[in-house]
Amino acid sequence: MRKRIAVIDRNKCHPDECGNYLCAKLCPVNRSGADCIYPGDDQGKKARIDEFLCTGCGICPNRCPFGAISIINLPETLNKDPVHRYGENMFELYSLPSPLFGQVTGILGKNGIGKSTALKIMANVLQPNLGRWKEIPDFKEVINYFKGTETQKFLEKLHKNEIHLSYKPQQVDLIPKQFSGTVRQLLEKIDQNKKLAEIAVKLELEHFLDTDISMISGGELQRVAIAATVLKGANLFLFDEPSSYLDIKQRVNISQFIRSLANDDTATLVIEHDLIILDYMTDLLNIMYGHEGAYGIVSGVKSSREGINAFLEGYLKEENVRFRNHHIKFEKTRENKGALPVPLISWPLLKKVQGNFTLRAEAGELHKNEVVGILGENGIGKTSFIKVLAGLIKPDEGVIDATVKVAYKPQYLETDSEMTVGEFLIEAVAHYGKQLVEPLNLESLFSQKLSELSGGQLQRVSIAKCLSQQAELFLLDEPSAYLDVEQRLLISKVINNVVQERDVTILVVDHDLLFLDYISDRLIVFSGQPAKEGLLKGPFNMEEGMNLFLRELGITLRREMVSKRPRINKPGSVKDREQRDINSWYYG
Ligand code: SF4
Ligand code: SF4
Repeated sequence: MRKRIAVIDRNKCHPDECGNYLCAKLCPVNRSGADCIYPGDDQGKKARIDEFLCTGCGICPNRCPFGAISIINLPETLNKDPVHRYGENMFELYSLPSPLFGQVTGILGKNGIGKSTALKIMANVLQPNLGRWKEIPDFKEVINYFKGTETQKFLEKLHKNEIHLSYKPQQVDLIPKQFSGTVRQLLEKIDQNKKLAEIAVKLELEHFLDTDISMISGGELQRVAIAATVLKGANLFLFDEPSSYLDIKQRVNISQFIRSLANDDTATLVIEHDLIILDYMTDLLNIMYGHEGAYGIVSGVKSSREGINAFLEGYLKEENVRFRNHHIKFEKTRENKGALPVPLISWPLLKKVQGNFTLRAEAGELHKNEVVGILGENGIGKTSFIKVLAGLIKPDEGVIDATVKVAYKPQYLETDSEMTVGEFLIEAVAHYGKQLVEPLNLESLFSQKLSELSGGQLQRVSIAKCLSQQAELFLLDEPSAYLDVEQRLLISKVINNVVQERDVTILVVDHDLLFLDYISDRLIVFSGQPAKEGLLKGPFNMEEGMNLFLRELGITLRREMVSKRPRINKPGSVKDREQRDINSWYYG
């Protein structure tokens, strides 16, 4: 068996520009006379590496001027061929998740380790090649590979057309580019069982059914995409990140909706990075681990609680595999700063009317050197409030003496630009290499165009762009979207460092409660009715703010015993009732 895999990024390999296969000239195996690195037979003759000859000396990945080579050691326990490999020196996937009828099964893992590849195989749009991309094996051989497993039964059913599958893709913001017309027209086309009226109520689509698809918000697009998936009438539903762009209330609602889909004849698979929602939505879990862009492995199925704990710990007990050398801990590190707070800006009672929407704010104050989380539904006036603080719009009632210089990362990110990441991040590169570029791992993206980036890459780039501006107050609107759990933790650390090292204030609007709980020093809470009226209260200390917000939301949180992460109590459970009785919605 191979001990390692070599991955060549074809877009980055330029043999003419590196001195004619610099890697091959330096490779000790080539120097001894063998062809470990050789020109490929593709256009441009990009480098190829013979994985059986490579000794893993590490010279070529370090010396390639374009960072095109990765040499990755495979786990010793991995003694089988991959389920699929895209081509020579390309990504490979080992094993598949196991959808079970009557259950909602989650898939949890970092970005770039094959979750989408696995879903494509399960959706029958990608035929697994067992690592042999030149002579694709027939179905019998594939079945034989999975003999005796749940996956064998699943693939057989898929082959016999007994599985009817419906898939919700990750990037719902692409939908308006693919369809035109109203939401109703789009959904009626796929409404096989005439269930649109019922689903529209459950997913709260009624008020925008006759709106053009190009005019609706991200949260609305997400719910339309979920409705479209369900209306197709399948017996296997695959949801890729169904919570993006949804506020917390909507996340809880779609969790209950997705849970309600599973019955004896229906299975549901969900990829999700919001751990509180994943935990609430699923019964079982497959963890995916491996090396980003190189290989991915799917763990055996676990209960959701144990699976999330194992993921955070980085260790799979049943498989005896450690896939990360550190625990992920959402523990606060700067809870008590000791020093007296220094005010940045304060505001009196405010009122601002914009069309049919009225924003009111109770008096409050922001301090320097703090992260303030903002909780509230979509469309409740969060952005309008920031514009008032920045002096961009004038309140109708209440006067703000001084305004502050604000930098803003919007919720929706610019994807069409042909600018390269390096050009876009010129300020960050010049002034904040250590603070932003290095920790966010952006250097490897410099030569890529913004239009070529994945959702997660674009998010990291946009956060760096915002935080590299000269401002006193930063607003990051949904910085966790499209990021995996490890990247969310990384972003939290970067935000923390910027606040401390530059003595600035960062407001974070996010709907991942775990992320917001971890990152915030204090909380602002918005209540009201989206698109009609919003009322801002706070900032509060964490306990007060969370209690206020969760009470309005009607959910209680407890700490999980082992990992100490927050979990939503099952409505009506003993713990839920106990916490409601003592008015303690936040961790009892
Ligand atoms: Fe040159 Fe790097 Fe390509 Fe090797 S991998 S040929 S060093 S660009
Ligand atoms: Fe050659 Fe492998 Fe060393 Fe690269 S890592 S130089 S391919 S032996």
